[in-house]
Amino acid sequence: MKRVYNFSAGPSMLPVPVLERAASEMLCYGESGMSVMEMSHRSPDYEAIIADAQRLLRQLMNIPDNYKVLFLQGGASTQFSAVPLNLMNKNRKADYVVTGQFSKKAYQEAKKYGDVRLVASSEDKNNTYIPKLTKEDFRPDADYVHICFNNTIYGTKWNYIPDTGDVPLVADLSSCILSEPVDVTKFGMIYAGAQKNMAPAGLTVVIVREDLIGNYRENSPVMLDYKLMADNDSMYNTPPCYCIYIAKLVYEWLESLGGLTEMAKINYKKAGILYDYLDGQDYFMAPAEKEARSIMNVTFVTGDPDLDKKFAKEAGEAGFKNIKGHRSVGGMRASIYNAMPVQGVIDLVAFMKDFAAKNPKNV
Ligand SMILES: *Cc1c(COP(=O)(O)O)cnc(C)c1O
Repeated sequence: MKRVYNFSAGPSMLPVPVLERAASEMLCYGESGMSVMEMSHRSPDYEAIIADAQRLLRQLMNIPDNYKVLFLQGGASTQFSAVPLNLMNKNRKADYVVTGQFSKKAYQEAKKYGDVRLVASSEDKNNTYIPKLTKEDFRPDADYVHICFNNTIYGTKWNYIPDTGDVPLVADLSSCILSEPVDVTKFGMIYAGAQKNMAPAGLTVVIVREDLIGNYRENSPVMLDYKLMADNDSMYNTPPCYCIYIAKLVYEWLESLGGLTEMAKINYKKAGILYDYLDGQDYFMAPAEKEARSIMNVTFVTGDPDLDKKFAKEAGEAGFKNIKGHRSVGGMRASIYNAMPVQGVIDLVAFMKDFAAKNPKNV
């Protein structure tokens, strides 16, 4: 068996020790005589798993007690609707910043539910930067401000947390959650689909300040009501049981590395190797502005779409899989989430050097 370096933007790599542990428990979890997949979500074994998952996530992210942690389904995209239904309920106003496709989708969805203002957008430069915003840019009577913290498709990340005054900040952290420490208290709510950095697809984690919930929009789908889900410990109905179990194993793996501070050191090292190479040559270009660079998704191009295609193809054959950029932007994207080993990035840079030497551009 040979495992490849999978640079997919999501679903993406999981840590090998997590997969091994899951494999060893596949047929029989503990003394239960069954797989976690086959377990009642109301059984004591499963209740311990979901409680441990929540405890570990709280510990890793240092989540204060006045925040609820919810394990939900429907992907991050379902939160594009759930956020306004739950939080746009005082003045029915919200401010959105668009820095890529996912924040644009969130903005468009929210518009269905109230007075939604586009505060700023980076679309004028193909989402290669993050707007610099101050408190004065936001409406003080907005129910919340929404941002996407790491833009998976464009390879940009907010390098600051915008000051929104007393207006709660809601952030989509799907592609950067658990990659480095974040100050949860600066946010009213954080949400993330699991399939980038936490678990298989099918689980969405919501971290929401208690005082913001309980005003759910009337006549709306029962499944999107945060208060109901919080009151039922994410078990109003069957939760995505197996995904939560894998997430728990990923949280244990992160703990064993020394938590998010240690994980961040490794992630900055990986991203640094790739960006240092990109900055030191002129065969490949990195479109994202330097101060807005993501440490999870690194985008680059040769400037020649045919060469880009050739690169992605030959990289795939050499064991660097899924390095083609998103279909909407082209070029290349190396997603180097937590589970990507440092060696994967070192080997990728060696491959890039080799490719550049063997494929001179016609000038
Ligand atoms: C992948 C992604 C999404 C979409 O997630 P789904 O779970 O497919 O709905 C939303 N936001 C960001 C930042 C993402 O990376």
